[in-house]
Amino acid sequence: MVEHFCAPGYRGGFLQRVKEGTYMGHIIEHVALELQELTGMPVGFGRTRETDTPGTYNVVFEYVDEQAGRYAGRAAVRLCQSIVDTGTYPQEDLEQDLTDLRDLRANASLGPSTETLVTEAEARQIPWMVLSARAMVQLGYGVHQKRIQATLSQMSGILGVELACDKEGTKTILQDSGIPVPQGTTIQFFEDLENAIADVGGYPIVIKPLDGNHGRGITINISNWEEAEEAYDLAAKESKTRSVIIERYYQGNDHRLLVVNGKLVAVAERTPAHVIGDGKHTVEELIEITNKDPNRGEGHDKVLTKITVDKLSLGVLERQGYRLNTILNKGEIAYLRATANLSTGGSAIDRTDEIHPENLWIAERVAKVIGLDIAGIDVVTPDISKPLREVNGVIVEVNAAPGFRMHVAPSQGLSRNVAAPVMDMLFPPDSPTRIPIVGVTGTNGKTTTTRLTAHIYRQTGKIVGYTTTDGIYIGEYLVEKGDNTGPHSAHVILKDPTVEVAVLETARGGILRSGIAFDVCDVGIILNVAADHLGLGDIDTIEQMAKVKGVLAEVVSPDGYVVLNADDPLVSAMAERVKAKVAYFSMSPDNPIIENHLRRGGLAAVYENGYLSILEGQWTLRIEEATNVPMTMGGMAPFMIANALAACLATFAQGVDIEKIRQGVRTFKASVSQTPGRMNLFNLGSYHALVDYAHNPAGYEAVGGFVKNWKGERLGVVGGPGDRRDEDLILLGKIAAQVFDRIIVKEDEDKRGRDNGEVADLIIKGIVRENSNIPYEIILNETEALETGLDKVSQGGLVVIFPESVTGAISVIKKRNPLADDSL
Ligand code: ATP
Ligand code: ATP
Ligand code: MG
Ligand code: MG
Repeated sequence: MVEHFCAPGYRGGFLQRVKEGTYMGHIIEHVALELQELTGMPVGFGRTRETDTPGTYNVVFEYVDEQAGRYAGRAAVRLCQSIVDTGTYPQEDLEQDLTDLRDLRANASLGPSTETLVTEAEARQIPWMVLSARAMVQLGYGVHQKRIQATLSQMSGILGVELACDKEGTKTILQDSGIPVPQGTTIQFFEDLENAIADVGGYPIVIKPLDGNHGRGITINISNWEEAEEAYDLAAKESKTRSVIIERYYQGNDHRLLVVNGKLVAVAERTPAHVIGDGKHTVEELIEITNKDPNRGEGHDKVLTKITVDKLSLGVLERQGYRLNTILNKGEIAYLRATANLSTGGSAIDRTDEIHPENLWIAERVAKVIGLDIAGIDVVTPDISKPLREVNGVIVEVNAAPGFRMHVAPSQGLSRNVAAPVMDMLFPPDSPTRIPIVGVTGTNGKTTTTRLTAHIYRQTGKIVGYTTTDGIYIGEYLVEKGDNTGPHSAHVILKDPTVEVAVLETARGGILRSGIAFDVCDVGIILNVAADHLGLGDIDTIEQMAKVKGVLAEVVSPDGYVVLNADDPLVSAMAERVKAKVAYFSMSPDNPIIENHLRRGGLAAVYENGYLSILEGQWTLRIEEATNVPMTMGGMAPFMIANALAACLATFAQGVDIEKIRQGVRTFKASVSQTPGRMNLFNLGSYHALVDYAHNPAGYEAVGGFVKNWKGERLGVVGGPGDRRDEDLILLGKIAAQVFDRIIVKEDEDKRGRDNGEVADLIIKGIVRENSNIPYEIILNETEALETGLDKVSQGGLVVIFPESVTGAISVIKKRNPLADDSL
């Protein structure tokens, strides 16, 4: 752990901190990182913060694989706890942790070829996600996504892949095109073996299963009947159909030619697993020495794979006249495998620059003839720099989904970035990989603003995917009902292959639990920050809450826009920390932040002279008069104007035509069925009723802003949840006294720990403090209170209810047959 620099920024920095004294959470963070580091998962990022509860820390640390990360976290706590309790952590426990972590890593990590592809994608800022089945990886978002599975791409045609998997068919098709392939024949019965050998021109021959792979069941360079018999059995056992290929043996080395999108991109010469003598060590010892090479690992996790000794390798040795205890002369080579697969201990030399142009032409033609976008062509030839025809080279096989490891990390020669041409094929230059993403956060108004933004985008004919507190939607349809404001829901949209624009409500809960679903977005709207949800997730103050919401502002890309509320100081201050361009909205064109911003040529949206307008430098673009924007309730709901300004500004910044924005705000209505309890206004003929589920002081103030503008009598039916603090309930009473002419105080059915009448008393305290002249009465039952309000309100008046049960209140009102037209 001496390598952990930590805050001091030098080697030993972390240990220095430990010596000086640091919190246990901080130590756990570093141990969790180191455990991953030790097991081949390079990580470095971590942060630890104290909470208000002594001994409780929030620890954030990086992981490569989520499961391994979780394990490392728990193991770190175990380890530290044990050291605290006993002064030590048993060696065998540590070994076990490391073994478990290595296993988790091996099970989880992408294959080496997939790894090279996603690394290339990252280098190009192309987002990627692993899909939930078949190890498929999605590159890009929404409608622009492409899929890969190892080195198969969505462009790999099923016919080409199946042909490549059929060795006999491949050979026949290639032969018909005049491409050199091994002379051979397929048999199903042992009786036919002798004739088949004669047919291919006698020994030396190769015998292999018709439907094998990874070199299984193959015997090469067979020179007599005894060997042939044995090889036949071996091959037949490996074949599902007991079909066996008899081929002439071609002299030469194994080469893999990789063709991507019609172009040869790499050539590797492959050598089977072998050891070279030094005149001192036995074959067995030499294998051990070779396997000590740190580049050799198990399976595919390193550049090379360890050589294993098994029956197959003993047979291969024997045929060369060696045993495990033979001491090889200096320079003498003993092969342990007949075939050169890297996975059986083979090695690879890059020969890309040496291939003869004619062979290059053949390779590119072969890929086309078979019909593969990504093809691994196996060629046996003594010298790839000479035309196959001249040196009697042949194409033995064409592979779909060829491995990239031998080209990316050859044991000799240059590494080739073979992932780049694949990425060029999937995403040709200048083709998009992302869809516009608009993120919306704030304490109040997120769902409304998300919906309106989506609605405006839909005027452009685009397919919009959006997530809100009430569900996930694509186009006009609901995909999933429920609170969908976290990263999981956002991924549903980003993974959808039909979605052209994503508008994502991004709530505090999701950000705190698992962060944000995307690395960058194009627009981030921050509506407001008010006191709500404080005390949860160690966010205790409104300033801390502003930091949480500010995360969305920080992930907006430098050429995107952060849309900030200039009327909310905590929000406008976020401008300091963003990479993106800033646009402000305000209820007033005289807001000094707006004036300043415009003077510098900035972009803004304001409410001026009854209009929702975009301001750019010295120019004013009027979108629409508020009275023509239904969601603003005839211009009487200021907070709705603010939400609309934010949505207009966001879409305008994204280049949506002003005409479409106008059309959008004119036609947007948050219907009762879509958003029950959100400013639901009912026209009851001679009077109106409003149901709103405002759940914090800022929400009451917002609704109050609308009520104040009401011309007739204003009657409030108010109550609040019993688990709120006394001062919050008093505040609610005060706000009520400011906006209503008459108040009925009711209580929730669920008292949440308070006595009957206690909440009502607190609210009345607030009312009286604010204005002792206001008439009020107490009717504790919610339904009764509402019925009374509706009965008593005068002509042209408005009854406002903040209900415990939204559906209950709506059904009471609906019994009075509201008019279909709820306009004002
Ligand atoms: P993989 O899955 O690794 O491609 P495979 O089981 O499909 O292997 P082939 O590709 O047909 O088998 O053959 C494996 C190796 O055996 C070839 O790369 C080549 O080195 C050798 N080989 C196969 N056929 C011949 C032949 N006719 N002459 C010489 N060598 C041969
Ligand atoms: P939630 O956190 O429940 O998902 P939200 O942020 O999505 O809420 P909306 O559903 O759009 O908010 O609105 C909920 C209520 O918040 C409205 O009915 C209204 O009372 C209030 N509200 C909406 N917009 C604002 C705003 N800009 N400022 C203050 N209050 C608002
Ligand atoms: Mg092969
Ligand atoms: Mg919401």
